[in-house]
Amino acid sequence: MSDAFILYIDRLKGGAVQKLGIILSPEFFDIHESDLVFQDPVEVSGEAYLAEEELVIHLSASTVARMPCSICNQMLPCSLAIKNFYHTEQLSSIKTGLFDLREPLREALLTELPKTIECPGGCKERETIAPFLKKHPEAPNTPDALDTYFPFSDLKYP
Ligand SMILES: [Zn+2]
Repeated sequence: MSDAFILYIDRLKGGAVQKLGIILSPEFFDIHESDLVFQDPVEVSGEAYLAEEELVIHLSASTVARMPCSICNQMLPCSLAIKNFYHTEQLSSIKTGLFDLREPLREALLTELPKTIECPGGCKERETIAPFLKKHPEAPNTPDALDTYFPFSDLKYP
């Protein structure tokens, strides 16, 4: 079970579809930062098969990352999920006949991370620091102006 994330290309030859149902330890993220922490397992489901000269991995995965609120710095859980993620790999580049699906999975999950998060419902600390935040001036000529344009407003009804 410990190497369930390793795909054996030989076993997929002849059109076999390998069902994947894996719980990965979060250590595979190999991230050691104070403002990005993975401590929950990563649940992975999906399938792997060969198509022509390619290995195809089709996955859904979910876990929870922990990141600090961008206002008050309190660590917050942040659900991460990918659905119907596809990764293909040329068989010619898999020299060993083994493919570790953790690498593409890791990248796909990290891509989903938000740049910043904030306490649910808006950080309470926001009011404390509000006087120090510059308000964004309303930008003129935003596409919002289009909302007031009704192309059919002068149609005459019989
Ligand atoms: Zn906060």
